[in-house]
Amino acid sequence: MKRNLLLTPGPTQIPPYLCAELGKPIIHHRTPQFQQALKEVVEGLKFVLQTKNDVFLLASSGTGAMEASVANLASCGDKVICVEGGKFGERWTELCKAYGINAQVVKVPWGKDVDPMKIKELLDADKDIKAVFVTHCETSTGVTTNIKAVGDVVKNTPAVLVVDAISGFGVTDLKTDEWNVDVVASASHKGLMLSPGVSFVCVSPKAFKLMEVSKSPRYYFDLRKAKKTMEKIDTPFTPAIGIVLALQESLKRFKVEGLENIFGYYAKLAKGTRAAAKALGLTLFPDESCMSTALTTINVPEGIDGEKVMKIMRDTYGISVAGGQGEELKGKVIRIAHMGCVDEYDILSGISCLEKVLKELGYKFTLGAGVAAAQKVFNE
Ligand SMILES: *Cc1c(COP(=O)(O)O)cnc(C)c1O
Repeated sequence: MKRNLLLTPGPTQIPPYLCAELGKPIIHHRTPQFQQALKEVVEGLKFVLQTKNDVFLLASSGTGAMEASVANLASCGDKVICVEGGKFGERWTELCKAYGINAQVVKVPWGKDVDPMKIKELLDADKDIKAVFVTHCETSTGVTTNIKAVGDVVKNTPAVLVVDAISGFGVTDLKTDEWNVDVVASASHKGLMLSPGVSFVCVSPKAFKLMEVSKSPRYYFDLRKAKKTMEKIDTPFTPAIGIVLALQESLKRFKVEGLENIFGYYAKLAKGTRAAAKALGLTLFPDESCMSTALTTINVPEGIDGEKVMKIMRDTYGISVAGGQGEELKGKVIRIAHMGCVDEYDILSGISCLEKVLKELGYKFTLGAGVAAAQKVFNE
């Protein structure tokens, strides 16, 4: 039987101890037992997000948390800013359009970070702008946004800062309160190493004021309902019970190991992956200065189809990496994630498999050079 190693930026691998949690019989959610779990999960999420703000759980994939943020913060005709440096930045704009919200787009070349001054100019020119939507780790390109710098320009304006941290959560530092982030959206199936099904939204008091007056249509994702029930440690609807219970276990790791150590661990995996790519004579897609530690986006050499590389790795050798997204990157890059349940040997397997496939496709390099370079970093 073939292995099935996921080095994809969501879903990520579920470690055996969490598979065991997910396999447990269901309990009812209106019970002290579930209430205790929900309380611990909310506390655990706040710990990772370094925040005192409210956290609400939803039953959806990550995009549901993004939609909840949009629908609750602004009304039809309101003005907002969306930062687009990749596929997920574009999703903010698409969601705003769906709700009739007037999004001014700050386009960022793919692979680069946003210049916060561009956001400042727009905010200075128009005090009616309600929100600024950005992406923490832009998973389509492998860039991490300097959220602190964006927070510095948004904090003294009437606008709120909304961050899609779906792939960055628990992998890369996000100091919600210190960096003046008002809303964070994330989900269970990336850094938290579980099945998709739970998303969550972290909301500041400044943002909640907007949520109370938004006229956007909403029912299931109405965060006013979520807040009201969360005051009694409850949810308005049936939560994804099994995943919430497993989150209780998944989140323990952050307190036991410490946030700094966890972020450092992924940074090391990223460093090894980058060193391997370079040793193979390959280049990296994003600028060095804003490269994400959650995933590494590697340019596929001229004349080789990245989609083919990805498919052979997956279908012949059982190792999944992600291909490129959008017209800009399809077939041109592969993306190797280092989030959740991944260790050095998983990365080494991925690199050795990449080497094997590149060799098969006729790319010239010294076999083993990538693995050796990564090993060197891992042994530092
Ligand atoms: C995965 C991802 C999403 C989408 O999440 P779904 O769970 O597929 O809805 C959104 N934003 C970013 C940055 C992501 O990595």
